[in-house]
Amino acid sequence: MKVCILGAGVVGTTAAYYLSRTGYNVTVIDRQNGPGLETSFANGGQISASQSAPWATPAVPFLILKWLGKEDAPLLYHLKADPILWRWSISFLSNCTSARLRQNTLNNLKLALYSRELLRKIRLETEINYDVNTRGILQIYRNTKTMDGAVSHAARLDQLGCRNRVLSQNSCFVLEPALKESDKEILGGVHTPDDESGDAYAFTCEIARIASNSGVSFRYDETIQHLKSQNGQIHCVKTDKGECYADIFVVSLGSYSPLLLKPLNIKLPVYPTKGYSVTIPTSGRNNAPGISITDEDNKIVYSRLGNRLRVAGTAEFAGYDTKLNENRARAILNKAQAQFPNGGDFNNATFWTGLRPLTPDGMPVIGKTSIKNLYLNTGHGTLGWTMCAGSGKVISDLISGTSPEIDASSFRIERF
Ligand SMILES: Cc1cc2nc3c(=O)[nH]c(=O)nc-3n(C[C@H](O)[C@H](O)[C@H](O)COP(=O)(O)OP(=O)(O)OC[C@H]3O[C@@H](n4cnc5c(N)ncnc54)[C@H](O)[C@@H]3O)c2cc1C
Repeated sequence: MKVCILGAGVVGTTAAYYLSRTGYNVTVIDRQNGPGLETSFANGGQISASQSAPWATPAVPFLILKWLGKEDAPLLYHLKADPILWRWSISFLSNCTSARLRQNTLNNLKLALYSRELLRKIRLETEINYDVNTRGILQIYRNTKTMDGAVSHAARLDQLGCRNRVLSQNSCFVLEPALKESDKEILGGVHTPDDESGDAYAFTCEIARIASNSGVSFRYDETIQHLKSQNGQIHCVKTDKGECYADIFVVSLGSYSPLLLKPLNIKLPVYPTKGYSVTIPTSGRNNAPGISITDEDNKIVYSRLGNRLRVAGTAEFAGYDTKLNENRARAILNKAQAQFPNGGDFNNATFWTGLRPLTPDGMPVIGKTSIKNLYLNTGHGTLGWTMCAGSGKVISDLISGTSPEIDASSFRIERF
């Protein structure tokens, strides 16, 4: 049986790996000249089950108002006449209640913990190298309110199977001595030892290589134009180079997924949310952090990827605009330099921007659509790298008619 996966980001490629192991004849199509070259290219690198909480929280509407119009704000919302953004925002706001936050976090956490386990298995089975770092993630806090919130959240996370330790300022310095380099005060932190970090792009390339060796066909440099349906089923995908016929189709086009589905009357509320990263060479510098860090109050994350330091953050609601605003990238670089003054060669940092495929409730969309042979595995927002293995296995199980090992019903498109 033939499966065609649309999109060779980390999500589509990992699903291809699982589907081919299940025995399907898999083809993956992507417009880029290799795998992982869009949002999966230079993300924050964190496998952060501990950070499964979506962005829609009771505090966020006030923060959006506070940051409105500030060029260097962590979250930049462009008020513009975009009906798609308005509809998405209303749905986002309806998720900003404590009850929704609790439920959405729980659903994400279940998938993220499962995914973290599977990623370890993939590593063991394939022996691939992607600058993995298994020292966990340290979340640091600089003000009493966020630290207190983190302490109570940590207790809940622990009950839900995400091991963690609340640390004093001094214990944070013991775990990551490079934090002492800055005069910016840290009150304390939470360490989640089972979280990880690694280069999502290197992983995607490696998993594509392995999938390709076991028979998956990757068609690059090919832009998908539309899906053709007949008798209530999709029978082929039309591209700028030709057509691809298959029995089953899986959409994993990241932020571009809704555009392909719209003509089929499938409304997928995924909005592109722009983020930035900077990558700093660390060779010859001794004081780059060795552990992955989330600086909660500055809304940025750090991951050590071999001899590079990746720093990522910010969110901008500006549609499909992929232009790199140097001021926003530099704001991240400046924060990194202030925190780790001897952490790398800041003059030779490279800047990147990508579009997170974000749903209003912060959960991915995984499963069947109203069209029998059309599946979705997309909308992973801030957690696509964290969840790629779990989502890939779940979609493979759903397609093959096997019960997924976790309850994936909350990720269906029908919830919208
Ligand atoms: C700044 C930033 C930091 C992040 N940090 C983290 C992190 O630390 N941890 C984490 O878990 N997640 C993180 N993320 C989120 C994560 O990167 C994404 O969720 C993930 O990359 C999404 O993967 P994807 O495969 O769904 O999308 P993509 O990687 O965008 O893949 C979609 C693919 O579809 C292809 N495509 C689109 N349209 C077409 C078309 N018409 N024809 C052919 N091909 C097409 C594209 O070329 C692309 O390769 C971060 C994101 C950003 C922006």
